[in-house]
Amino acid sequence: MHFNILTIFPELFPGTLGAGVVGRALNNGTWSYDIINIRDFSINNYGSVDDVQFGGGSGMVMRADVLGKALDSVKNPGKIIYFSPRGPRLNQKMVREFIANPNETYTLLCGRYEGIDQRIIDVYNIHELSIGDYILSGGEIAAQVFIDSCVRVMDNVLHGGSESTTNESFEIGGLEWPLYTRPSVWRGQNVPEVLLSGHHGNIERWRKQQSDEITKERRPDLIKENEK
Ligand code: SAH
Repeated sequence: MHFNILTIFPELFPGTLGAGVVGRALNNGTWSYDIINIRDFSINNYGSVDDVQFGGGSGMVMRADVLGKALDSVKNPGKIIYFSPRGPRLNQKMVREFIANPNETYTLLCGRYEGIDQRIIDVYNIHELSIGDYILSGGEIAAQVFIDSCVRVMDNVLHGGSESTTNESFEIGGLEWPLYTRPSVWRGQNVPEVLLSGHHGNIERWRKQQSDEITKERRPDLIKENEK
């Protein structure tokens, strides 16, 4: 999987994507990325990429002519995504769809300021994507969230094989059960007996029941979603 990342802050990459399982997958070629520095396409020697809003109002907008040239410089853009609070909210089901074809290329446009000129979204048929109901100061963190969530569910990225990605929150139709490891007693606190029993059937039932309870309490919306 390949990502073209358009940003005015190239130094933010690979950032968190260079560490852990996703960093290893970058090193072994499971995924790759190119940075396109939007400032290279600025309209003047000061590196300007933004301008005031037509219609007035505070805050600057990234210019269509600059972004258009930056996008045209990408040889194989694949699907173009603009990170924006107005897009559909990313979830695990969407992540699975994004990685359905591991040879896919995504071009990721990281906004800054108040956002980008609408004509870019219209002319390039761009998909908007949000990572949650809050406002970030730029799309770079959103791009890293997107890449991380995609890459970690790609085959061979996690050690435990595909098991460790299908057994997680959202993938199991709800939230994960409580996790425990050694020591079995810590500050007088015991690990639930059933987990030490070696009885796989009972362990599975206990986990399912814990998962259901936690999901019902914290995220009843997920249960409704599964019933759809
Ligand atoms: N004026 C915009 C917010 C701009 S925030 C509005 O009211 O909707 C600046 C940039 O940060 C955006 O262009 C976008 O690329 C990124 N961004 C902010 N919040 C985001 C979110 N929740 N999801 C994805 N990208 C976001």
